[in-house]
Amino acid sequence: MENNEQVPQNQEAIKNEQQPAAKPAAAPAGAPRRPAGRRHFGSRRKVCRLCAEHIDEIDYKQIQVLRSFCTDTGKILSRRITGACAKHQRQIMRAVKINRNLSLMPYN
Ligand SMILES: [Zn+2]
Repeated sequence: MENNEQVPQNQEAIKNEQQPAAKPAAAPAGAPRRPAGRRHFGSRRKVCRLCAEHIDEIDYKQIQVLRSFCTDTGKILSRRITGACAKHQRQIMRAVKINRNLSLMPYN
């Protein structure tokens, strides 16, 4: 009699284990990690545009390029905004200052 009682208990136990296990498997596992509302800041890597285009040195004569690193009023944009590397930012600063002296670009 003990054997007969144990068999149905085991079957019920297996059924009970299978049912809760099946529910989370039915729900999408990877999707709902992030809460709703798109907030994904950070981890967007800025690449120096001049390095990406393999421009080794920037000249004061390349005004079109220099303008893209300045505001409309003539301020030089910071590296934080443009993403330029240190080497290119130095070259941009020098070139813009030369251009200002030659009045090719405005002072502030
Ligand atoms: Zn660069």
